[in-house]
Amino acid sequence: MARFRARSLLVTVSALVLAGGCTAPASAQSRAATSKPAASPAGSAPVTADKAAPPPAAARAAAITLPLAAPVTQLWPFKRLYNGDYVDVRAIAERYGLKATWVSSGRILQLADAQGRVRLRFEDRKHDFLLDGVRVFMGATTVSHEGGLWVGKIDVIKTIAPLLRPAEHAGQLPAPPRLIVLDAGHGGNDPGIQNGPLHLNEKDMTLDVVLRLKRLLEARGYQVLLTRTDDRKIDLDTRAGLANEAKADLFISVHFNGAGATVTGTETYVLTPQFQVSTQPEQDKSMVRTAYPGNRQDFANVVLGYHLQQAVLAGLQTSDRGFKHYRYAVLRFAECPAVLVESTYLSNDAEARRVGTPDFRQRIAQAIADGVNDYAAVLAAFHPAASLPVEAHAPAATSK
Ligand SMILES: [Zn+2]
Repeated sequence: MARFRARSLLVTVSALVLAGGCTAPASAQSRAATSKPAASPAGSAPVTADKAAPPPAAARAAAITLPLAAPVTQLWPFKRLYNGDYVDVRAIAERYGLKATWVSSGRILQLADAQGRVRLRFEDRKHDFLLDGVRVFMGATTVSHEGGLWVGKIDVIKTIAPLLRPAEHAGQLPAPPRLIVLDAGHGGNDPGIQNGPLHLNEKDMTLDVVLRLKRLLEARGYQVLLTRTDDRKIDLDTRAGLANEAKADLFISVHFNGAGATVTGTETYVLTPQFQVSTQPEQDKSMVRTAYPGNRQDFANVVLGYHLQQAVLAGLQTSDRGFKHYRYAVLRFAECPAVLVESTYLSNDAEARRVGTPDFRQRIAQAIADGVNDYAAVLAAFHPAASLPVEAHAPAATSK
């Protein structure tokens, strides 16, 4: 295609105009292994400016004003509760023709379709819900009110609705991807997570997985570029900039996780929508009000992140730590749909031993490729002419 300017693996870095001053992704090591996000019932409310920590000038310059999808917003009846706007889960059931049933009275509510298949499961005071068995994190915790459970309005608009009914957001979803930029996390003097006893560095494992993934995606007809093909350090801002410069349709950043030695499982991240609180706390409270270039893809991002998480869980049979949101630099400034995948924990010896084998790294690459396939299949329904042939793979049997 015309805009695909070079088949070289490494996109040249030139004239990047991305804002500086981006914070590094919170090191996986710095994330508390067992910490839960703060249970703030007011999570969906815009956070007031933190005068003590103004956004860096560069970040302000990069911010753009994006209107929320007003017509969609107005379709959801909501109430002001706990200083945030909330939607009754029963309204979600009614809107989508699902039947709401209490599993545990006043505490756990599940919504099933006409065939009796449970689609959604909400629990009081939880930050996450299950959609077809996959954990999805919201910005606000679920609250009880008037004999029902209520969820944050932004979470309904930006996460639940596009996942349940992507067709209602077809106008905001792009064509299926053709040019994909793969980003091997870390590199050079930044090793990422290290497992000393097993002599494993995250930077080496990410590059190996990305090279395998490149071959799989190319075999499926995608064009693929890499942010790095060898052991070198690349700035976080630059990584998304490379995708933007190449006019990529999709950006996938591959990482491995780190925490306490007993923590295991899969996490997938996309950029937090504007006005939604991230899954982990962010130091700069003004970020919640900021619309980043990546927020243009909020609806595509949620479809992408969900399907990546589902496919990696199915492919690796790992435990489900959830599809999450965070304002990582590599996601904030990507102008195309973008996702960061943490398939397993290098800090856990059992998972790290598996990652240390080429066979398992091939499985990781295969699972991510399957997730791309699933994401593309959703978009293909709205853009049939732009689609590559969709390759069938084993149906996603997600861990419950
Ligand atoms: Zn990493």
